[in-house]
Amino acid sequence: MPAKTLLDKIKHIIALNGPISIAEYMHICMADPEHGYYKTQEAIGRQGDFITAPEVSQMFGELIGIWCITTWQQLGKPSPFCLAELGPGKGTLMQDLLRATKNNSEFMNAAQVVLVETSDALQKIQKSKLPKDLVESGKIKWEIDINKLPQMPVIFVANEFFDVVPFRQYVKKQSGWHEIGIGLSPDNTLQKMALANQIETSQLPANAADEPEGAIFEHAPAREAIMQTLAEQINNHSGAALIVDYGHLVSGFGDTFQAMAQHAYADPLAAPGEHDLTSHVDFQPLATAAQAAGLQSVHTATQGEFLLNLGLLERAGNLGRGKDEADQNRIRSEVERLAAPDQMGTLFKVTAIASSDIKPAGFETSEQ
Ligand code: SAH
Repeated sequence: MPAKTLLDKIKHIIALNGPISIAEYMHICMADPEHGYYKTQEAIGRQGDFITAPEVSQMFGELIGIWCITTWQQLGKPSPFCLAELGPGKGTLMQDLLRATKNNSEFMNAAQVVLVETSDALQKIQKSKLPKDLVESGKIKWEIDINKLPQMPVIFVANEFFDVVPFRQYVKKQSGWHEIGIGLSPDNTLQKMALANQIETSQLPANAADEPEGAIFEHAPAREAIMQTLAEQINNHSGAALIVDYGHLVSGFGDTFQAMAQHAYADPLAAPGEHDLTSHVDFQPLATAAQAAGLQSVHTATQGEFLLNLGLLERAGNLGRGKDEADQNRIRSEVERLAAPDQMGTLFKVTAIASSDIKPAGFETSEQ
């Protein structure tokens, strides 16, 4: 008998095998072939569960397009090179990016665009959104595995991608930092519980000993492994990666496991498969993974700083010129949404890694 709902299926797995890790739970909820979130839900956008920066404003993808051209020039205009986006969602960022770069024929001739996307449903939406001639000519291709990208110079772009990659949680107890799993309560509901296994001390921040019992530490080896793959390709062939996500630049403690439903936070255990599950991205181990792979050019900023450095206000001015008042107000509110500290400007962070001889644009005010 097939399980009726994903909740039934997960309970069945736990009843047979014992508690599962948060990473396993996330993977099942997002990717289950029958009930997984990206298979079944209209996730992103004003009608969906959450809205991302490219869906807020065309200016986001356009500025990233200009960043890609500048970075490509700094790299010495490699040709061919791979322009790869990880987790492109509805394809809006790439659509805006390509509109901003289309008049630079040298850049466009050199580019092999690859969208790395695991969801069939989202791949279809992306295909329908992007310029037909580029899709049909094979200029734009799709891939499900970042390890299968063409081995050549590369520029990676990833917005709100790392937060969906599964992570693990550990809780401090007297006996050490124990992994938190998801098991069943006596009344047969999903519940978090401390497991026997512990994290290696070398993986904890230096000040972990000062934390009280009950403190939570989040660790995402799968995110670090992806970062290592990006850094290795850049180290071997030259290139850069631009990563934008909500999170923190320095490792810390606390529970950031979250579900988003209809633009509000929901209990991540309440309705498996029906909500987007994420956690805040800890950028510090990602930077460390890039450095360990040989890249010394690692730069960080808040989203607000980065976009303002790239010319968000000038772009908004050009976009609004000659438009009516309603449009001007809309553009102004998009700028606020993307860059204001109380909106996406501070919570969202940007990290760029690059071949060691280049200094990517956009980090001028965040670094001395
Ligand atoms: N970047 C988009 C969408 C973010 S949602 C935006 O800013 O709007 C996360 C995206 O990552 C979705 O497209 C999801 O299908 C994709 N995704 C999740 N896990 C993935 C994986 N392991 N490899 C590639 N894509 C993945």
